[in-house]
Amino acid sequence: MIPFIDLQAQRQRLGQALEDAILKVVRSGAYVMGPEIGELEAALAAFGRAPHALSCGSGTEALVLPLMAMGVGPGDAVFCPSFTFAATAEAMPLVGASPVFVDVRPDTYNLDAAKLDAAIAAVKAEGKLTARAVIAVDLFGQPADYPAIASVARKHGLALIADSAQGFGCTLDGEHPLHWADVATTSFFPAKPLGAYGDGGAVLCKDARLHDLLVSLRVHGQAVASDLEGRTFDHDPKYLNMRIGMNARMDTIQAAVLLQKLTIFADEIEARNRVAARYAAGLGDVVRVPRVIDGGVSVWAQYVIETDDRDGLAGHLRAEGIPTAVYYPVPLHRQAPYAGFPQPGGLPVTEAAAQRVLALPMHPYLDVPTQDRIVSAIRNYVKRNG
Ligand SMILES: *Cc1c(COP(=O)(O)O)cnc(C)c1O
Repeated sequence: MIPFIDLQAQRQRLGQALEDAILKVVRSGAYVMGPEIGELEAALAAFGRAPHALSCGSGTEALVLPLMAMGVGPGDAVFCPSFTFAATAEAMPLVGASPVFVDVRPDTYNLDAAKLDAAIAAVKAEGKLTARAVIAVDLFGQPADYPAIASVARKHGLALIADSAQGFGCTLDGEHPLHWADVATTSFFPAKPLGAYGDGGAVLCKDARLHDLLVSLRVHGQAVASDLEGRTFDHDPKYLNMRIGMNARMDTIQAAVLLQKLTIFADEIEARNRVAARYAAGLGDVVRVPRVIDGGVSVWAQYVIETDDRDGLAGHLRAEGIPTAVYYPVPLHRQAPYAGFPQPGGLPVTEAAAQRVLALPMHPYLDVPTQDRIVSAIRNYVKRNG
């Protein structure tokens, strides 16, 4: 089997510097909130052109923390796609709120702004839930239609969160998602475009007060500078708890790994785009290849094609030693824990896509001969089976 994602090629490229960075943390003893955490946060803010960046333990925590900071809770509605990884919608019930599922566009699989507008209006008209926020997802690495989604969110007075777990580094008209969103979150799960050697996540935001609240919530609601203004506390403010928070810290070792990986990330995004272009040139006449939004640059977390005979093609490729994956075979609104949440307007595009999508091997180190082997195997199957 050829690898679906080749993390070892990247490790070899980074070489001794990566191992030295890990060993430095091991020898330092600063395993939690060591100096690499602050360095990483500064580097992430610079890369994502964000006023503030906060590291945390996972992409899931990165979604829960801003919902907590915004006071989203029981009786509140947060609008999101159903065609996404579970964590996008899981964040809402974790704070007592309800996800409201909205359909996606058939060309990009990202939130459909017109359907979002209608869904918000329907929830408001029904009057049972209070509309609070929208979570747009940069599915498979490409930016959602932020100008349209942000204008709908603004019109209805809702906060906009960009779930960029798959899309950190993507741009639209040269801007990162945070240009339009109040908050952008990401995940450093190893298989994401920017992955650590374990779990990790980050929250980027514009508002200093929101960032302050995130800093507090990440460590058990501990007092932060803005809490202490105009008052004195003679002990470590770590032990002055201002609100209910949790432990959502990133390990220092993961920050050290990510600092090394960030040095080659822009170059890797270019390499991913070369791989995507070669797939499109080789496959565009036999299967449906991805379409990126006008003005968008994808980081290609996944390269997802569509065919009528998805399962037949996947079986053929497996027999040829070529792995594939289906993201996502069962949309969230069809899964038992999520089936009871509202889905005004229905989700026909999501349902159809789930039957047809197939992700091909995609990573920055996919060489031309291997990629040509994948392309030929797909072409042969499609030709043989009409
Ligand atoms: C991976 C992912 C997450 C969650 O990230 P974890 O780090 O695994 O918690 C959230 N949203 C989307 C769209 C993802 O792909």
